[in-house]
Amino acid sequence: MADTIFTKIINGDIPCHRVYEDDKVLAFLDIGPLSPGHTLVIPKEPAETIDQLSDDAAAAVGRVLPRIARAVMSVTGAAGCNVLQNNGSIAHQEVQHVHFHVIPKSSPSDGLGIGWKSMELSGDVGAKLAEQIRAAL
Ligand code: 5GP
Repeated sequence: MADTIFTKIINGDIPCHRVYEDDKVLAFLDIGPLSPGHTLVIPKEPAETIDQLSDDAAAAVGRVLPRIARAVMSVTGAAGCNVLQNNGSIAHQEVQHVHFHVIPKSSPSDGLGIGWKSMELSGDVGAKLAEQIRAAL
């Protein structure tokens, strides 16, 4: 994987507002927050997208995400938050290093706006898809 801006942040080559760090995970404030307290939680392992991340690095991130979300919400007073994780440019990923956004939501107008265009899932299609995904795991 090519180095990204997050590699430089992990290595301390460029500054960030760090909120958490251990040997496998770094969390810091997003430079372009959708709301105050918008935090990025990243594995130190260099993986571009979630499907390329090792179980070990994913577990390390997952272990601290709830704690970071609690701290962000406590400090900002937000009533809720979104945890967002984009993979691929088609899915709005701009930095090619796995990262989880923790985005506090204090009012309907701040934080993450979501266009949720849901479809219906028929029984036949659902059964087939679930079977295919189970087989791919
Ligand atoms: P993506 O669209 O890839 O899910 O989100 C990338 C995020 O990284 C954006 O929210 C953007 O503001 C943030 N970002 C990009 N460059 C920097 C940087 O140099 N420092 C920090 N703290 N955040 C960055």
